[in-house]
Amino acid sequence: MTKKFEDDRWLATFPNANPNPVLSCDQDGTVTYMNPATQRLVAGLRIDGVEDILPKKHREVVHTCLKEKAACLVETTIRSQIIAWSYYPIPKEKTVHIYAQDITKRKQSELALREQFKYFRLLQRIASAANEASDVDKAIQVCLDEVCALTNWPVGHACVLAEDGTGDLVPTKLWHLDRPKEFETFRWVTEMTRSPPGVGLAGRVLVSGQPAWVIDVTKDPNFSRTKLAQHIGVKAGFGFPVLVGKEVKAVLEFFSGEAAEPDKPLLEAMAHVGTQLGRVIERKRAEDELRKTHEELEQHNLEMALLSEMTDHFQVCQTLKETHPVVAQYAQKLFPGTSGALCMFNESRSVLETVVDWGQSSKSEQVFTQNDCWALKQGKPHLVEDAAHGLNCTHVSERPPAGYLCVPMIAHGDILGMLYVQFAQQASSEASKADKQIQESLRRLAVTTAEHLALALASINLRESLHFQSAHDPLTNLFNRRYMEGSLEREACRVKRHGTQLGIMMIDVDLFKQYNDTFGHEAGDIVLQSIGALLQKNTRGEDIACRYGGEEFVVIMPDVPLDVLARRAEQFRNAAKLIKLDYKGQSLGVITISVGAAIFPKHGSTPESVLHAADEALYRAKAEGRDRVVIAQTPGSGTAVANAKVTSLKKG
Ligand code: GH3
Ligand code: MG
Ligand code: MG
Repeated sequence: MTKKFEDDRWLATFPNANPNPVLSCDQDGTVTYMNPATQRLVAGLRIDGVEDILPKKHREVVHTCLKEKAACLVETTIRSQIIAWSYYPIPKEKTVHIYAQDITKRKQSELALREQFKYFRLLQRIASAANEASDVDKAIQVCLDEVCALTNWPVGHACVLAEDGTGDLVPTKLWHLDRPKEFETFRWVTEMTRSPPGVGLAGRVLVSGQPAWVIDVTKDPNFSRTKLAQHIGVKAGFGFPVLVGKEVKAVLEFFSGEAAEPDKPLLEAMAHVGTQLGRVIERKRAEDELRKTHEELEQHNLEMALLSEMTDHFQVCQTLKETHPVVAQYAQKLFPGTSGALCMFNESRSVLETVVDWGQSSKSEQVFTQNDCWALKQGKPHLVEDAAHGLNCTHVSERPPAGYLCVPMIAHGDILGMLYVQFAQQASSEASKADKQIQESLRRLAVTTAEHLALALASINLRESLHFQSAHDPLTNLFNRRYMEGSLEREACRVKRHGTQLGIMMIDVDLFKQYNDTFGHEAGDIVLQSIGALLQKNTRGEDIACRYGGEEFVVIMPDVPLDVLARRAEQFRNAAKLIKLDYKGQSLGVITISVGAAIFPKHGSTPESVLHAADEALYRAKAEGRDRVVIAQTPGSGTAVANAKVTSLKKG
């Protein structure tokens, strides 16, 4: 037999020393030659004969390969050794040479490579899903689904680090469940179970920061849901951490219906997945922060634009009263959802009055004192986060549903009033952190608004008082002569337009010089003030009472006929006599006045000429003995003296 091989050129490459088994067989498959390596293999496998190591279909293969004149390859496994059998036909000799090779190692590394590729694909899928996921929950969900698909395990669940600072893991509602109905109770119980550090599979992962494996949770005394797991047939479990830096932010746990040995490559792959999810969390957090900053900036811009719009409106307000509807409108835009009020000191600064309010339910009193408000007492904002427990101001009569804020309005060191902002209904405790942030940004906005308001209102106040001063006499608070002259022009035009009439009185205090001479200038001033008050009190809103100069006064009365004018003048004269004044303990005696009265256009074609006519009538009143009312002459009705109609309407 040996000789035969030596003759063959092909077989010349088959030395007996070949380390791999080499065999030869005839066309029936009967082995006709085997080299020493084959004998060693048979002995090593402790098999009786070479026939037992050959592939089961050996004879069939021999037959086919001779018939087809083509080499055949067959793989067999003998006692966990994988052997590749190569059949080479020599049809001329009706012989088949067989070359065997132990490919166990190659097969194993092939398998490992395939496994690795599987995990590589998983990581790749999770990475791209994580990149596309719009939030962390979506990325976790993809991960649960992918890992379950890869492992064929039916249950995947995520729990996250509690935000309450306990360090526990709390369950989420993120699940992968192959058969949701079957695992309904497991889900329900799991969603009610917290995992303190070290407790249960997730708790262990939390402490170690490493993936963990439990072969059979039903036999694990540390597993809190053992009974339940037994009941629904959950056995093996593994979990891995989602890490941000070194901190475990979440744990993903998976369960199988079978007990299973730890799969090291799987755990290694899951460690990578955990790190990847951690990056998603980090990225999302950075994105959220960026978005928040952007939103805050936008909100700030909007607020600044509203404040500047409000200030623009104030520019054209002449009086504080005109600003009130502006404040009401912008307060609602600046503090949406809140109620509130703008409270200002009254003129004497004894109390604060609510001049504007917005929203439906401001609980601040309409009138209160500085002492009723902490912000006004301290001169700085006072925030009550929760009216049920805070240090409340007494001007807040009824307890508001949530908190409120009082901000003093200070301009140039003076407190002008207070801005009151009452927050909307308290949100649930879960949202309390967000509430705090809202309160903080409201506080900042309220302070800025109060500053703007204070400055704007102070300048309107100043404008208003300058305007008042320019039109009023400081001693009597009546209009001054300049204002009266302007008004007279205006009223005369109106009279011409409407065909009505205008009454004009010229009033002079009789023998006024005597008050000065007898009691001093100051006493004279007091007399003038009392006449000013008398005129103010006894004239209507549309009448214009003014101090014409010295101890002379002019009263303009629109739409008043002559008889009414005369009657009103008489009333003044009588009222003056009732004034009782003391100066330094001495009575100033009876005050009398003389009045000249005229009607426009009856007594003159221009307002000046009517004023002049009234002055002339006054002159006549003096001439006729003072303390009387004289009506002006009608122009062209004869000589002045002859036609002067002295109406001494003194009663009795
Ligand atoms: P008659 O009845 O004729 O009007 O006499 P009379 O004393 O009231 O009139 P006369 O014009 O002689 O005196 C007016 C005085 O009023 C002269 C002036 O010193 C005084 N007087 C003018 N303005 C003021 C003022 O603001 N305060 C005081 N106390 N006196 C004033
Ligand atoms: Mg006088
Ligand atoms: Mg006079």
